[in-house]
Amino acid sequence: MQTIRHPISASHGSVHSELTSYRFGQPGGRKAYIQAALHADEVPAMLVAQSLRTRLQMLEQQGRVLGEVVLVPAANPLGLAQVINERPFGRFDLATGINYNRGYPALGAPLAQALAGQLGPDADANVRLVRARLRELVEAWPASSNVNQLKKTLLGMAIDADVVLDLHCDNEAALHIYASSHQVAELEPLARLMQASALLHSSVAGGDPFDEACFRPWSELAAQLGAQTPLPLACLAATIELRGEVQVDYATAANDAYAILRYLALQGILQLDESGLPPASCRPTPLEGTQRLDAPHAGMLVYLRALGDQVAAGDAIADLIDPTSGETTTLRASVDGVFFARLSHRYVIRGMNVGKIAGVQPFREGNLLSL
Ligand SMILES: [Zn+2]
Repeated sequence: MQTIRHPISASHGSVHSELTSYRFGQPGGRKAYIQAALHADEVPAMLVAQSLRTRLQMLEQQGRVLGEVVLVPAANPLGLAQVINERPFGRFDLATGINYNRGYPALGAPLAQALAGQLGPDADANVRLVRARLRELVEAWPASSNVNQLKKTLLGMAIDADVVLDLHCDNEAALHIYASSHQVAELEPLARLMQASALLHSSVAGGDPFDEACFRPWSELAAQLGAQTPLPLACLAATIELRGEVQVDYATAANDAYAILRYLALQGILQLDESGLPPASCRPTPLEGTQRLDAPHAGMLVYLRALGDQVAAGDAIADLIDPTSGETTTLRASVDGVFFARLSHRYVIRGMNVGKIAGVQPFREGNLLSL
């Protein structure tokens, strides 16, 4: 295991921040990049990373790391330092309001421009050339703030990987995975191994999250090429939401880590004895089909359904109760699907998102993710 420290803050700052990555195996073969807790205080993700590091060290000693694995066990040292009134606050940068998982560079257009006329009939050569240009484009991306330096450092490690897994958690949630619509078949085994309750896919979710910065350049470039210029979508990227923020225990983390390692084995990056897949725990659904239940007024929130429940349109999901008058609004599903995410606090103000249901039929467009 190689330990690499990456400075994030520039000189003259009053606070020094750095990021740590661990590398297993050797560069040159298939590469996996795994980062945990881009929104900082996402402990389920960071605990899985601890389990991954221990197991990867053992696998490396046994000669079972066939490719290369880069692990960033705490991807957001800037956000980890943010606390407001004794509560960790890691989703947005306090100085700028920027979500740490939005605003990554969209490299598809500059990639196509940089490669104009350079790709040919050899798919492997094309992949090598695309990766080289992507590395250069990330390197050239200006990072004039600590937040952008962090984003650039993370993306620089991920951009040439075959598999990118971005480990997060939700407020309260069943395990769910975000993926590219172009890569659902390749990521369906991951959903099985992790026993995900939802596999949500889109071509463009909006807001330029980290996983899209990795996979979208490939699909956008491939769409512009003719049959004489083959280009596989050589970067599989997914965001895994490891349930809710207080679902933290050793056994769950160890199981999640092992599921991830088994997926890397399927991808030819590790060698494990166990093979085969458990039955599917969900079917892929378009992110455009996910219903967001928003609070129509302030009130106390009482959920009527459990996470992971299959619900039908019209089912009551939660009651919203005015704390003075007792007037109650029942929030209902408008789609058939899996109730997979909800809030951890139980008093909300008007407009807050209080739940998500993974439906099958697309009906939304535009920005599909939360802010
Ligand atoms: Zn997150």
